[in-house]
Amino acid sequence: MPAVLFISDLHLDPDRPGITRLFLDFLGNRGRDAEAIYILGDLFEAWVGDDDDAPLFRDISSGIKACADSGTSVFVLRGNRDFLLGDQFAGSSGCTLLDDPARIDLFGHAVLLMHGDTLCTDDTDYLAFRHTLRERGWQQGFLGKPIEERRRIAGELRDASRTAGGLKTGAAMDVDHGAVTRVMEDHGVDLLIHGHTHRQAVHNLAIDGRPATRIVLGSWDTGGNVLEYSPEGYRFEKLAAPV
Ligand code: MN
Repeated sequence: MPAVLFISDLHLDPDRPGITRLFLDFLGNRGRDAEAIYILGDLFEAWVGDDDDAPLFRDISSGIKACADSGTSVFVLRGNRDFLLGDQFAGSSGCTLLDDPARIDLFGHAVLLMHGDTLCTDDTDYLAFRHTLRERGWQQGFLGKPIEERRRIAGELRDASRTAGGLKTGAAMDVDHGAVTRVMEDHGVDLLIHGHTHRQAVHNLAIDGRPATRIVLGSWDTGGNVLEYSPEGYRFEKLAAPV
């Protein structure tokens, strides 16, 4: 039976080689049997430009390429950590980059895919900051800097966001229900799949008076989390990290 797999928030980083191995194993086995894989943001903990040839990025890129070459379509949506993923990465990994939000057809059903950070509208500091980082001028300026300087700046931004995140309340870090309803109404969907909050769950809600569903993907921390979708329905799957 055809299956489509959804994952997000792997936060791949050289400091967590076990999760990198788990993902490469997923691409080489489970991923090859799937019709498509959708990676809904924060595949990488940081991405400072497609020209960064650190071993981790080369390994992941060739792992995705081998999976795509086997016949699985791989789609990647940028997260707040890896928002600089670009065409060069897409070309070398054989994946297709998606806009956020992306409206797709899933076995004849319209579904909206997002990373999820733009749904956390209570976090106004972050959204203002995000706006700056997505400006063409800022990105061109950043990508024009030497790679060591970009890595240093990315490290500082990460430390700052960890500190700010630690001070914020749980509610500000979760999605705003009004924002969810609006985006689902605007795109005429009754199913939204997103990541970012790391709070794996299935939420039932109403859109235009009709039942609707919001599925939140889990992060990859101690193991992997996969949402498998087939014409029969969906289920969450847990992948154990190699010992
Ligand atoms: Mn995120």
